[in-house]
Amino acid sequence: MNKPLSPKFLLEDNLIKLARWLRLLGYDAAVYRSTSLSSLIALAKKEKRVFLTRSKRIFKLKQKFPRYLIKNTSYKNQLNELKDYIKYDEGHLFSRCMNCNVSLHDIEKKKIKDLIPEAVFETFENYKICRRCGRIFWQGSHYHKMKLILQKIFLKQ
Ligand SMILES: [Zn+2]
Repeated sequence: MNKPLSPKFLLEDNLIKLARWLRLLGYDAAVYRSTSLSSLIALAKKEKRVFLTRSKRIFKLKQKFPRYLIKNTSYKNQLNELKDYIKYDEGHLFSRCMNCNVSLHDIEKKKIKDLIPEAVFETFENYKICRRCGRIFWQGSHYHKMKLILQKIFLKQ
């Protein structure tokens, strides 16, 4: 297992799309819903997470906690904005469930035969599973499409 990437993030729930892409890159990107701002800040401090917000008001709060004001609205531009803080590392790609933010685990192909389409089973050898939501992942066309988007953002000259 790779060493976890840092920093860890805490995002406002209006940044859920960005959170999902950070997870694809392998970053621990938590989104807590229905929680007050003060408890969010307390969590960010306790769990040593960088608070990502689109709110200038939150960004300007006097309290001390690591934060970053996201300026863009599209996730591609948002990822671009964070380029100084995060990196594209193949070894960490798709190591986390984009829905649950927990690490994925390798699972033997034969154990999931009945859970995936037959054509997929016949094509791919390696699978990962999220133990929280039960979703199974493999490196199909969806995987390559997302990888290409990330490469365009992070590897362009
Ligand atoms: Zn999951």
